[in-house]
Amino acid sequence: MFHPKESSMTSTAPRTPHDPPAGPSAGPAVALSDVHKAYGATRAVDGVSLTVERGEFFGLLGPNGAGKTTLVEIMEGQRRADSGTVAVLGESPWPRNTALLPRLGVQTQASSFFVRLTAREHLATMAALYRCDSAAAERALASVGLTEQGGTRVDDLSGGQRQRLAIASALVHDPELIFLDEPTASLDPQARRSLWQVLRDLKGRGRTIVYTTHHLDEAEALCDRVAIMVAGRVAALDSPGRLIAAAGPTTRLLVPADRLTPEQARAMEGVDRVTEEGGSLVLETLAAGRVLAAVDAIAGLQGVQTRTASLEDVYLDLTGAGAADAPRP
Ligand code: ADP
Repeated sequence: MFHPKESSMTSTAPRTPHDPPAGPSAGPAVALSDVHKAYGATRAVDGVSLTVERGEFFGLLGPNGAGKTTLVEIMEGQRRADSGTVAVLGESPWPRNTALLPRLGVQTQASSFFVRLTAREHLATMAALYRCDSAAAERALASVGLTEQGGTRVDDLSGGQRQRLAIASALVHDPELIFLDEPTASLDPQARRSLWQVLRDLKGRGRTIVYTTHHLDEAEALCDRVAIMVAGRVAALDSPGRLIAAAGPTTRLLVPADRLTPEQARAMEGVDRVTEEGGSLVLETLAAGRVLAAVDAIAGLQGVQTRTASLEDVYLDLTGAGAADAPRP
């Protein structure tokens, strides 16, 4: 059931979903300056400064333990920073700011449910807590594609359906700033794509979204900007396109491994690196045309794939997760 902190939301005035955002519209949605948070000797957040603009779709990426959850909890007002300044919708989220809570939507991996209620009753209860009109629950249910399951008890929903219900719960009061923690983690590809549309629609209505994900393709497709966190710090922050462009114009050619030996690949002019990956040789090059011609001469081009850099490459470079690759020639 709900933590007592959530019942404090009942003190807020009713809002309809199409009201303009409350409070000052100027200024960024989130402004962090030199934020630190340590747990004993662990520097979970180690000097983070960043700004999330209103209406922005902002991704927070990084390996487990990088400090993403701690940082998001500081923004949500669930944790106090040791030092630095934190402004959310122009206000300080700490000490727990009850005026701010109804303007935020929070979905976590550990979202709580009224499990004995149906999905629709659960959302109606959430809407009542926020003093929203009853139609808000139905809209939230529809927005995540759960209308048909509205009469199903929460504990009979599948994992993916519960995940969508958690997102609907975060949206029921139509908050200005939405925090989502791996919202598509246990969704099948179709549900994942339909959730992308939900998120794009929210952005289209001027809402600000801050979300953490391990799906780099998703971050690349959805986010205006991403911050890649490593060991409590922001290692990179920009639009996916600019991060990829800055990573350089490397092309990866994937050649079926039975058609070319690593030695032959390494001997080709213009090949910078050769690795093996799932039955393919991966040739990294800045001179794709020349290398393709050399591959064609030895092995033909059937089954050869060409890939330019992706956000995943940038991420692996920054987080060192690529270190397990085969050594450079
Ligand atoms: P992420 O969300 O990127 O996985 P976290 O913010 O959860 O990162 O964790 C950052 C670091 O802080 C990790 O080393 C983690 O073990 C540590 N940590 C997180 N929460 C606590 C806590 N409540 N007490 C002690 N250490 C914690």
